[in-house]
Amino acid sequence: MAVLAIRTFGDPVLRSPATDVQEITEIHQRLIADMFDTMRDAPGVGLAGPQVGVMERIFVYEASEDDSGVLINPKIVNRSGETEIDDEGCLSLPGLFYPVERSTSIVVEALDEKGEPVTIAASDYKARIFQHEIDHLDGVLFIDRLTDEDRRDALRALRDQALGFPSVPVAGHGEDTF
Ligand code: ZN
Repeated sequence: MAVLAIRTFGDPVLRSPATDVQEITEIHQRLIADMFDTMRDAPGVGLAGPQVGVMERIFVYEASEDDSGVLINPKIVNRSGETEIDDEGCLSLPGLFYPVERSTSIVVEALDEKGEPVTIAASDYKARIFQHEIDHLDGVLFIDRLTDEDRRDALRALRDQALGFPSVPVAGHGEDTF
């Protein structure tokens, strides 16, 4: 078991788009195992490559006890017009929870850990995790998707954290960290 260091806000890897995995090697098999260990240790329900400094399009998720997996080179090929607003947190932005609007249902095409193509229709919580993690692969953070007021609040809390001030309580606490 290996728990990797999770990069946090301010680290430029979180703002750089990741590139497609060209070939799935033994190094990726080890990375996937380590990413699961890191996600479960945190604990979180999703973890993307850039969050552990790997600039490849890969993420792991655990939507529930019996629904976990890894997606490589994921692409959203369809999304519902319907959206849903719910609280999100991020392992790379510890302590912040804010409501984010996401598509209720999406269809994702990707490769599994063996390199086999998979198509997954995800809705609700799982769709939210996938959209959050795919954003990470594009260098997008959930604070980019907040209302102006919440974003100002989040950036103020992050600035205070960086300066070493005690964490300011923020509106909308939740438990789910992606
Ligand atoms: Zn995140």
